[in-house]
Amino acid sequence: MTNLNIHQPHRRIIVGDGVAAAALTETCTARAGDTLIVVGYKASQLGRGLAYASEPDENPWRYAYLLNSPADDIAPDFGQWVVDNWEHIYNSMVGRSPDWIGSAQSYLDCDDKRGLNVPRAFFGEYMEQRCQRAIGVLRERGVNVEIIDDEAVSLDQEGNGFCLRTASGQCIYADAVDIATGGPKTQRIEGDDGPFCAPELFGHEERIAEHAKRGADIWCVGTNATMLDALRLCQSVVAEDKLRFTACSPRGVMPDALIARLPRELTKPELAGPYPNANAFLEDVEANMQLAQTAGHQMREIRAGFRAFFIEHGLKHFVPDLHEARLVPPTLRHWLRGGTRDTLHDFHRLSLTNHTRVVSGAVSAIESTDDGVNILLKDETGALVPYKAGFVINCSGAGSAFEFDPLTRSLIDRDWISICNRSGGIRVGEGCETSMPGVRYLSPATTIIGDEVMPMPLYDAHLLCTWATRANQYLAKA
Ligand SMILES: Cc1cc2nc3c(=O)[nH]c(=O)nc-3n(C[C@H](O)[C@H](O)[C@H](O)COP(=O)(O)OP(=O)(O)OC[C@H]3O[C@@H](n4cnc5c(N)ncnc54)[C@H](O)[C@@H]3O)c2cc1C
Repeated sequence: MTNLNIHQPHRRIIVGDGVAAAALTETCTARAGDTLIVVGYKASQLGRGLAYASEPDENPWRYAYLLNSPADDIAPDFGQWVVDNWEHIYNSMVGRSPDWIGSAQSYLDCDDKRGLNVPRAFFGEYMEQRCQRAIGVLRERGVNVEIIDDEAVSLDQEGNGFCLRTASGQCIYADAVDIATGGPKTQRIEGDDGPFCAPELFGHEERIAEHAKRGADIWCVGTNATMLDALRLCQSVVAEDKLRFTACSPRGVMPDALIARLPRELTKPELAGPYPNANAFLEDVEANMQLAQTAGHQMREIRAGFRAFFIEHGLKHFVPDLHEARLVPPTLRHWLRGGTRDTLHDFHRLSLTNHTRVVSGAVSAIESTDDGVNILLKDETGALVPYKAGFVINCSGAGSAFEFDPLTRSLIDRDWISICNRSGGIRVGEGCETSMPGVRYLSPATTIIGDEVMPMPLYDAHLLCTWATRANQYLAKA
């Protein structure tokens, strides 16, 4: 007879090496005798993922990309990590272009290192250290942890569990699997694969740098965080007085800079609810935002305040009707958009000398010529306006036809997870469970978890960690 009091060892696989996989590992419920296997392209650098990867030493843009929020907004103890590791950060950044130390000066003058928009590579370093500590704790607890640098190519149900096949030919068995393989790719634009184009920023830096250095005027499709990264990349290889940089988007509007100020304050929304529909709720949110602005709050205080509020209070409490709740996030995302202080200030400063500019219009096609590109831009009247550029970078984001990684796609094709027809994001069950018992899914593209609609997108390290932790708490209770 089976003794139900004896713990049967479990084997869990986590696929991914970014913040979501890291948080699932860190808060994992495995017990002594269980096995946890992390499979990712760079699982040995767990926590970095795509967003916080380390660039080789020789790349001038090694530390160019910055966090879009102040250090103490991204993780509760990252601000302290910045303080503790300041000498290392300072020594890595001194003399670099763009002059990050120079733009940090006003923060250093009042000893507020926690308020800095730190290069993302340092956040990667912090995440990696956090993961190594967490793995150490799991091992001390008696959990057998295996870290495998490999690509997961397929996941299939076999017997009472699952078999994950990898590119190197391994077949890894487990009774539970978490998929945390990141968000969708940048949407394609007709002609963005030409000789004077990059279909996305990351992974194409060397070519973009070459063209920026030869003096090409760089055109960026998008006025978002990736466009700000593209500007930093160009600033790292070209003197500012040689820079010619254009950003375009349908509305031609830049995000508000997230500026940390002392004393650090958070907007405290006063929302009662429940509201009969999304509009009534949004009206009250708008009134709260206006009140906060009148009280002197800027986007950093408002965005961080609403984020903290929604972590504590789910949208379902305010807008119980799921269909109505799904109408909220597109508007909130737009209202609470914020970007990197340093880069937005640089963009503005450089626009005064015509080295940067913003154009409104939707790019409908890119045509290659002998020495550059013609860009066809649709203006607000629907007319096609041609522009010339030396090089185009597609930073237009994921768009609405989300192009997911193959593993996510295979879960969608088998109906283990579904696409929300309103947001195009991913819908999973309570605790991030998929419809296949034993398989969970979490990525920044997740927009519905159980009966909770995400009011703000999970393209935010702190929110992703919060939901990963909740998924493990749910599992522990089940
Ligand atoms: C460039 C960029 C900058 C960002 N900046 C910020 C910021 O400043 N602040 C903030 O809060 N949020 C930021 N974000 C939002 C970001 O989405 C989250 O912060 C978070 O890093 C996403 O983590 P993730 O683990 O879901 O995805 P990812 O970081 O994409 O990690 C997923 C990992 O899984 C690996 N993988 C995928 N498929 C497989 C497979 N089949 N086999 C093995 N491995 C696989 C991928 O290579 C990838 O490394 C940024 C995102 C990006 C892309």
